[in-house]
This record gives sequence, C-alpha cells and structure tokens, in this order.
Amino acid sequence: MQQHLAAARAAAGDDLRAYLVLGEVAAPTPGRQALTPSQLMALPAPPPGKPFDNLHFVGSRWVSAWAITTSDGIILVDAMDNDADAERITEAGMRQLGLDPARIRTLVISHGHGDHYGGAGHIIRRSGCRVVCSALDWTMMETGLEFDRPDWGRPPRRDVAVQDGDVIRLGDTNLDALITPGHTMGTITLLFDVRQGGRTHRAMLWGGTAFNFGRRADRIPRLQAYIDATARAREIAARQNVEVFLSNHNLYDEAVEKLARMQPGAPNPFIIGSNATQRALTVMHECARATMAAWSA
Ligand SMILES: [Zn+2]
Repeated sequence: MQQHLAAARAAAGDDLRAYLVLGEVAAPTPGRQALTPSQLMALPAPPPGKPFDNLHFVGSRWVSAWAITTSDGIILVDAMDNDADAERITEAGMRQLGLDPARIRTLVISHGHGDHYGGAGHIIRRSGCRVVCSALDWTMMETGLEFDRPDWGRPPRRDVAVQDGDVIRLGDTNLDALITPGHTMGTITLLFDVRQGGRTHRAMLWGGTAFNFGRRADRIPRLQAYIDATARAREIAARQNVEVFLSNHNLYDEAVEKLARMQPGAPNPFIIGSNATQRALTVMHECARATMAAWSA
C-alpha cells in the first residue's frame, strides 16, 4: 500500500495534488475533516466560464456540468443534483455565457448517481433533448440506485444507451464514449476536441472518480475494474495525445480555480499537456492499487 501511495504522490507532483484525496480511502489522514456533500452542495455557485471556444463550465462548487457547442445545438454533460440547480446554475450559467438552454439536443449522463442525473427532468422539459447513458447504468437507475438522497431528483426514463467505443454525434462534433468501469460499472468517459483561437486540443472528461462503493460485496471487482480502466485510458490518452484532462467534480480538475486564473493572451491553464494527463491517470491508478492493498490485507 505504501509503495502505491508513494507512486501516486510522485506522479501528482505539485500540480495534481487534488487527485491525492483518493488515497484517503487507503490511508486516512488523522484529523482530516473533508466537507460533506451537503456542505459542498450548499456553497455558493461559482461563475460560469468558457475554458475553450466550444466548452463551457456551468456547474456548482460540488458537481460540474459541461456544455459543448456544436454546429447543430448543444451537448450537455451531466444535469446537476435536482431541477432547481439545473435551472438556477446550469441554465442561468448558459444564458450568462450567451447559450440558449432550449438548444440542448443531447444530455449525456456520465453515470447513474443522482448528482449527475438529478436535474435531467428539467433539462428534458425545457429542450426536448435526447438522453444518453450507458446500458449498464440505465439498468442500475431502473432497478436499484446504489446511492440516493432526498435532495436529488429522480432518474430520467431510459433513452439512448451507449457501449464502449460508441460515438455520440451532434452536428460537426463527435464524442468518443469509453466505458471506464469502477465508480459505477457503466461510467462513461468522453474523448473529444476542444478549440481555442484556431488551435485544437484533445480532451478527456473522466466520468466517475471516487472509490465510494462502501462495504458492498462487489467492491473488490469494482476496484479492480477501476485499476484496469485507468491503465487502459492512460494508453488511449497517450495514443491520442490528450492534453486536457477534465472531471465532472471540480475538486479534482480544479476547473473553478483554473477559470478564475484565465487571462486573455496568457497560457490556458486547462491545457495541462500530455505528460500531466498521464500523471493524473497514474495518481488515480496508484491510489486505487493502494486501496486494493489496504482492502486485501
Ligand atoms: Zn458518482
């Protein structure tokens, strides 16, 4: 366990320390008091922002939502905790950035937990969009939520199901869907192009990061799936020269802090480069292996 945690710390360097919180499952820091989801949900919403010409942050402090503009409308990735937050944070943020929420054509649910689908009902009613999730997580949402909270909206009705390797298309934009199991068994990680000032960069939006499977009987195979998924994603990211590594919880990718740092003419803090992308996936992978060592001891 200690070897894997040391490998994670080495990979994190100074710039990716946020991901080391995953090591807390294997080796909790004495006295550390993390904010609870309720406390995080209650924090004031950060301003929306535009890290790239075709990518917009419209989430809360706790959970991110990303709007991708295409030649034929908008793809929204994740739908907040509930209808009220989808309206107050995501829709309002889109309007502030000059986007019309009625132009959402596709809603991608990264995985079947309520902080990513809770406001789907509101988004669907406003826009009539299709909803995309993995077949596995549609089934989970229909047959047995593994987490639920009174302040989460209900799951949307099953619509489009994607599998590993499928492409989610809208207008001129392709999102490559990678199933990266672990956090849930049908977690979708997306690969797509982001553009800034005539330059294109490859981005990976990781669909589910934490090892919060509690004491469930299947936690060992799920953690193993996570270990395998991060190794596979690291190879794919290397092959595709992924330089932008995003999350659906900004605790990890520090999207809110990066947006606050963006300055016209200065380097874009979201372009971390292919080496840092590899290291981020290595931190996740090594923290998962440390956790496996702790759970198997
Ligand atoms: Zn989740």
